[in-house]
Amino acid sequence: MSYVIGLKCRECGRRYPKEVVFVCEYCFGGVEVDYDYDAIRRVLTKTALASRPKSLWRYRELLPIEGEPTVGLTSGFTPFFRADRLATALGVRELYIKDDSVSHPTLSFKDRVVSVALTRAKEFGFDTVACASTGNLANSVSAHAAKAGLKRFIFIPADLEMGKVIASLIYQPTLIAVEGTYDEVNRLCAEIGAKYPWAFVNINIRPYYAEGSKTYGYEIAEQLGWRVPQHIVIPAAGGSLITKIGKAFKELTLLGLLSEAHTKFYCAQATGCAPIVTTIKARADIVKPVKPNTIAKSLAIGNPADGYSATKTVLDSGGWAESASDDEIIEAMKLLAETEGVFTETAGGVTLAVTKKLIEQGTIPRDESIVVCITGNGLKTQEPLMNRLGSATRIKPTLASFEDNLGDRIRGVSAR
Ligand SMILES: *Cc1c(COP(=O)(O)O)cnc(C)c1O
Ligand SMILES: [Zn+2]
Repeated sequence: MSYVIGLKCRECGRRYPKEVVFVCEYCFGGVEVDYDYDAIRRVLTKTALASRPKSLWRYRELLPIEGEPTVGLTSGFTPFFRADRLATALGVRELYIKDDSVSHPTLSFKDRVVSVALTRAKEFGFDTVACASTGNLANSVSAHAAKAGLKRFIFIPADLEMGKVIASLIYQPTLIAVEGTYDEVNRLCAEIGAKYPWAFVNINIRPYYAEGSKTYGYEIAEQLGWRVPQHIVIPAAGGSLITKIGKAFKELTLLGLLSEAHTKFYCAQATGCAPIVTTIKARADIVKPVKPNTIAKSLAIGNPADGYSATKTVLDSGGWAESASDDEIIEAMKLLAETEGVFTETAGGVTLAVTKKLIEQGTIPRDESIVVCITGNGLKTQEPLMNRLGSATRIKPTLASFEDNLGDRIRGVSAR
């Protein structure tokens, strides 16, 4: 049973059948999935949801598949919690973290988009899937395609972090390291996709893939007790996640699951790659591409596919945007770990550093509810932390050596 009516151009509104269509042939706008919300309203109730499995597929009616889900059955429904120690450090009253750094199985929010994309790719009859990736998508397509028994071609920029390379190779994909930026990788993939009959999850089946990001938004609303925060800070690479959380809150309102949603959206990027932040600050319509130079490689997309939609989502909500330098990113990664016990990757450092900045500027008020979106895991981006965390105290295996070396730490502790 499917609730998908078809595809619709985001710019001119022209309709398309639910096939492999990804750009409007009239205006070259992006297309997105359109649903029969009246029919969904009758089945997707709070009571119905309460008894469903805790995975992203609990919102199945709002996802663009035809039959039953077949990929990523254990993905989604990640932790959401109140972050009081971090709130104190930032000087705010009500702060929450949505934590996809522990997403199953590949430790980033990309498990959401890939679960949906591969379920749909199988329905279309593809036996080979592919992607252009800044790292996390590579990990997730590699893993989910392995479990689904699909052939997989993964394209990454050649300078990716070791953690992201290893966490792709382990699943034995065909991994292709392209000597160029992500934007060059993506352009190459568009060319390859036009020639070979593969499902490029972020290109030719992008309208289906992108819908998976909505589940991050649905979960926030449900885990907050069917409420939304007053402010939400979201990292952006291609700008899809921020756009789709916006769509998610709107849909829940339309379905009567939320009484109102007046959330202000804030876009977080690294200073070394901030094309969307620049566009928002200029209140402009056109996103000017940049050449990335940042440690936040998972966000290093210089020519974001959904930059315009992301900008519109933020400005229409009354939100804003900021960027963070490499040093600010590292400091924020440390702050999140020290206060909340969460080890996030550089992208999470970007989001928290930007949150801190927006609070200090007075853009986000200190007495209103705030959600910080943590989307990836720190074990994958260890390079920038080398020599930034101090080191272990090395001792001989004797009590004397322990006391000699740790004198300053244990003085005043009364021995037994
Ligand atoms: C891909 C990615 C994002 C941003 O996703 P977009 O939808 O492309 O904006 C955010 N955080 C992490 C960790 C990612 O891997
Ligand atoms: Zn169009």
